[in-house]
Amino acid sequence: MDREQLVVSPGGQASLTTLDSEPAIRKSSPPSPWAIPPRLSVLAGRLDRLAFSPPQAMLFEGGDADDRIFMALYWAARLNCQAEVPPCGLCASCIQIAQKVHLDLIVFDGREGAIKVDHVRDIRIKALEPPRGPGARVIVLAEAQELTIEAANALLKSMEEPRPGNCFVLLAPLRERLLPTLVSRSWVMSLPWALNLDGAASPAASEEMDQWLAAFAGFVRSGTGWFERTAIKGRVPRQTAAGILLAMEREVARALIGGHPPSGAGDFFACLEARELRRLDEILRESQEAVTAMVNPSLVLDRLAVRVYNWTRDFSSD
Ligand SMILES: [Zn+2]
Repeated sequence: MDREQLVVSPGGQASLTTLDSEPAIRKSSPPSPWAIPPRLSVLAGRLDRLAFSPPQAMLFEGGDADDRIFMALYWAARLNCQAEVPPCGLCASCIQIAQKVHLDLIVFDGREGAIKVDHVRDIRIKALEPPRGPGARVIVLAEAQELTIEAANALLKSMEEPRPGNCFVLLAPLRERLLPTLVSRSWVMSLPWALNLDGAASPAASEEMDQWLAAFAGFVRSGTGWFERTAIKGRVPRQTAAGILLAMEREVARALIGGHPPSGAGDFFACLEARELRRLDEILRESQEAVTAMVNPSLVLDRLAVRVYNWTRDFSSD
C-alpha cells in the first residue's frame, strides 16, 4: 500500500514529509495524473460543475479506498490548477497535488491508524490562515471512519466555523460509518461500487434486496405492491432501508456506466434515461440523508416510491 503523505504546517511553513516513491495515482496514466477511469467519469463531471461554487465539506463514499483518494486529489487539483481547462495534469499545482506535497493540500489517512484529536487540532490551526496559493485549501480525511469520537467532534467544530478558502473532503466506504452530524454538513457523493461486490452479501440478503428492488420497480410501473411491504410490522429496520437505498444507488451507478443489470429490477434502472438516472441518484441521496438523520425509514421509502412514481410520469409526459 502506498505510504500516505501528510502535509501540515506546525510553525507556519509547510513541512513536507517526503514520499518514499511515487504518488498514489494510477500508474497507467503517463500523460496526466488525472486520467479519469470511465467508471468515475460521471463523478468527475459533477465535481467540475461544483468547482464554480465548491461546497465547504464533501463526503465521497463508495468505490474503494484508492478510488476515493484519487477523486479527492482530483478535486484538490480541480480547485487549484490555474490552467484554462483544469486540472491540466502538467502544472506545478497538479504535480504537487498528485504527489501530495502541495502547500494547500492536507491529507490524513485513517489507513495508517486512527485519526486523533491532535491531528484535527493541527487542521483547525491551519484552517485559520488563508490558503497559500490562489486556489482553495483542501483538507482530506481519508477513511474518516477511523476518526476517534473526540477527533470527529473536533472536526465538526471546524466544519461549523467555515473559513473561506477551506474545503473539507471526508472519504469513507459508507456514510453510515460516520457521525450523522458530519454527514449532514457534507455534500455527499457516491462513487460507483466495484461491480463484483455483490458476492460480499449473503445469498439470503441479496435475495431480499432483489425482492425489494423488484417491488419498487413494480410500484413505479403500476402504483401497487409497495406500501404492503413497508407497512409490515409498522416500520422497516433502518439498516434494511439503508441497504435498499444502497442497492438502488448501485443499480443507478451500473445503469449510468452501462453495466449489465444483475438484479430482477435491473431492467427498470437500465431503461431510464441518463437525466432520469441522475435525478433518481439525487433523490436516493436525499433519502439516504433522511434515513441517516433518523427519519422513520418506512416513511422515507414510501416518500421515495411516491416521488419516483410521480416524476416518471412527469418525464414521460413532457
Ligand atoms: Zn494543472
